[in-house]
Amino acid sequence: MELYEYKAHQLQKMLAQKEISSVELTKAVLNRLREKEEDVEAYITVTEEIALAQANASDQKRMAGEKMGPLAGIPFAVKDNICTKDIRTTCGSHILEPYYPPYQATAFAKMQKEGAVLLGKTNMDEFGMGSSTETSYYKKTKNPCSLDRVPGGSSGGSAAAVAAQEAIFALGSDTGGSIRQPASFCGVVGIKPTYGLVSRFGLVAFASSFDQIGPLGQDVQDCATVLTALAGKDEKDETTVESGGKDYTKALTNGIRGMRVGLPKEYFGPGISEEVKAAVLKAAKVLEYLGANVEELSLPDTEYALPAYYLISSAEASSNLARYDGIRYGFRAENCKDLQDVYFKTRSEGFGDEVKRRIMLGTFALSAGYYDAYYGRAQKARVQIRNQYQKAFGQYDLLLTPVSPMTAWKFGEKSANPLEMYTADICTVGVNIAGLCAISLPCGQDKDGLPIGAQIIGPPLGEEKIIQAAYALEKALEGGGK
Ligand code: GLN
Repeated sequence: MELYEYKAHQLQKMLAQKEISSVELTKAVLNRLREKEEDVEAYITVTEEIALAQANASDQKRMAGEKMGPLAGIPFAVKDNICTKDIRTTCGSHILEPYYPPYQATAFAKMQKEGAVLLGKTNMDEFGMGSSTETSYYKKTKNPCSLDRVPGGSSGGSAAAVAAQEAIFALGSDTGGSIRQPASFCGVVGIKPTYGLVSRFGLVAFASSFDQIGPLGQDVQDCATVLTALAGKDEKDETTVESGGKDYTKALTNGIRGMRVGLPKEYFGPGISEEVKAAVLKAAKVLEYLGANVEELSLPDTEYALPAYYLISSAEASSNLARYDGIRYGFRAENCKDLQDVYFKTRSEGFGDEVKRRIMLGTFALSAGYYDAYYGRAQKARVQIRNQYQKAFGQYDLLLTPVSPMTAWKFGEKSANPLEMYTADICTVGVNIAGLCAISLPCGQDKDGLPIGAQIIGPPLGEEKIIQAAYALEKALEGGGK
């Protein structure tokens, strides 16, 4: 077995026992990356020199007998909307092409403190807007499971990097599904933490009331390890909550006997492919076999989740993206005759079509005369949806649903029709609307051999529960699903 094929928790032991060095491991992953990138194109920037220097520093520390955390010396990738000091952070956009942040995002700083080794920055839909990574200004990331298909999005680069073993794990961000859906398309695991559990400081804002950073990894244990390092209060982000220094890996082996699992029937209705439905229902059977009580329930307000999400997230985006004016960040158009012209040309040339569409939609929804009819109503729907989940979590510990109505589609299949692309987010946006936590893990394959993902949703700060259930399910499915 090659070094790049191991999981972080396996490598951690090998490093601790000095069977391997971080430099050796990092070189192996970098070689793999170079080889695979020709096809997969998961990265926008590869930080080879930084990686080798950090790996070397990690080895020195270990030799000196310093205490090392579980991610020390392990190479990982970071989505390109997470600020890395002095390392280019483009957000997949032309407008941030020359942007080198003068500061670190807290999530990235925490990874650095853990001693994880930065391999580079991964491709993404422009500003996180998309479900296929096709809206990136830079390149089209291919799904490593089938190169003619999209890797999902917007964290498609991070998911593809992990799936192609071009990184041991990765950070992504999830505003409406962008960690879970690409994880599901590429056959890896991803966690969307509870809103507020992970600091958003230094995460380039798309829709601030939804955005969360989270891990993508080869298995549940690796994701739990990374989440443990990421979680917790940050004085630079007032929306963060205390994690109490929780170690999420402790929850892994708690099993799921006696847990009450709800299957919301609206997530299994028309539009969800039969193969996806069958695989997720099989996962439900496995949970039942393992001792959970599985039951169907109804969440009728699910039908409002998509419109509410697209209205609110676009409204927030229209305001967040106002800062890209050609003055403060990145790209500025040339040959402008006055200030107005600088704004106009910079934004016209700097943003892609999808970003412009969202800015227009959001500006419209917020404008006088339409505010009550659109933004105001979407906010009311948001409260209603949140209450409905809250009620459900009075009866159930967890909900089990598909991640995506379909498996990875072919390039171009949905990009001509934005509405069709939006509806693909039907199973994931509710979690962000209500500030819940959720994990996506592989639970089967379709007839073409493409991965299918199961989503386990938990109440706010229910990370331990989703992790313990996902781990039990993962182990059972490894054993053939019974
Ligand atoms: N696909 C969704 C969107 O385009 C979610 C994106 C995300 O989570 N960043 O808005």
